[in-house]
Amino acid sequence: MQAEIITIGTELLLGQIVDTNAAYLAKELAAIGFNVFRTTTIGDNQDRISNAVRRALDDCDIVITSGGIGPTVDDKTRDAVAAATGRDLVFDQSLFDDIRTFFEKRGLVLGENNPRQAFIPHDATAIRNPVGTAPGFIVKQGSRYVISLPGVPRELYHLMEHLVLPFIHREFGLETVISMRVLRTAGTGESNIDRLVADLEESDNPTVGLSAHPGAVDIRVTAKAKDAITAQQLLDDMETQLRARLGDMIYGLDDVSIEEVVVNMLLERGLTLVILETNTGGTLACRLTAVPHGFEILAGSLIASLPRAVGYLLKKTDHRHSVSAGTAEILADKIREAAGADIGMAIVGDEDPDAGPYGGVTGSTYFGLSRQDLTESQHIQLGGISEEGRTRIINSGLSILRNWLLN
Ligand code: ATP
Ligand code: MG
Repeated sequence: MQAEIITIGTELLLGQIVDTNAAYLAKELAAIGFNVFRTTTIGDNQDRISNAVRRALDDCDIVITSGGIGPTVDDKTRDAVAAATGRDLVFDQSLFDDIRTFFEKRGLVLGENNPRQAFIPHDATAIRNPVGTAPGFIVKQGSRYVISLPGVPRELYHLMEHLVLPFIHREFGLETVISMRVLRTAGTGESNIDRLVADLEESDNPTVGLSAHPGAVDIRVTAKAKDAITAQQLLDDMETQLRARLGDMIYGLDDVSIEEVVVNMLLERGLTLVILETNTGGTLACRLTAVPHGFEILAGSLIASLPRAVGYLLKKTDHRHSVSAGTAEILADKIREAAGADIGMAIVGDEDPDAGPYGGVTGSTYFGLSRQDLTESQHIQLGGISEEGRTRIINSGLSILRNWLLN
């Protein structure tokens, strides 16, 4: 079975965005046994999209397009697929109702262009989009299919996972079910995790793969089976083995974030947190308050350079406090007292503007943690103010905070 991926958007051709959709779609199709015959990228031009779709239909059982199904004039995919398959576009009332509801729920006014998105090629199956406004559609042309999906990656992933892959399974009578589970860790390096699970990474089914992000490592487990129950069973067994190796390093599954876990732990324990950030510019406060109820656990947050923080909290002007465990601890104590919070956290680190791509691997950051009866600190070998450096520092800090709450 052959498939072609057509990604649509002039900004892809100009190199303004990286074509992550093609990579994602290629992986998903390969995982269910399709041979990806060709990947094509094409600008927002109706005739060229149309020609690309026609050519793809000559060669492949499935053609998946991404992008260009929005409401604006430069969104040409809908017309192009209709033309390529010799169909008219017809208005679909239920799609229009979905779009209107989406706008009403958000208190937005429906633009003149939005009804465009309720048009799909004659006889196409609509793919309703619960996570955005652009619905997708599937056109069946003889025994072949054109599946048109939105360009916004989050929407594309959602529709693929929930609607398109199940559809392909049904239509092609695929015998295998693919299920995936992600075990998430933070604050431990990839090489450490790798050392602990290396033999499991050799497994054929399920497969186990690591993907490293700044200050966090995801462990992706993918199982193939005849049916969903068997696939889940395989995932469960592998998860048990991974947990036996990694224990508390795993903070959650799939889409859960470490800040969500920390906020929920604080909520469950009825504790409030106050934060001082010197070299992370409020990143921790920002991430915690982006989680539902994040504001409830946050007793306050202070962003200041180390000398100013010392000035405010220790009422000292001699500014001799260095980036050290002692400084982090005393500042965590003082900010906790000042805010009347249950826990004080002080992130005290080097603010090296010349930090390298990894955020100043030579720098240092100390995390001071204080509660009424205990003050402690932990250290990581990382300073700096680059975005990646900050992400690493905050992921480590959240992991340290989580471990502190666990014990
Ligand atoms: P919209 O309703 O948002 O207009 P659309 O289906 O028309 O949806 P596009 O306008 O083509 O999609 O793309 C929307 C955004 O999605 C782009 O600005 C870009 O950020 C992202 N995007 C589009 N195509 C890709 C791609 N192939 N890889 C990664 N990101 C993409
Ligand atoms: Mg668009």
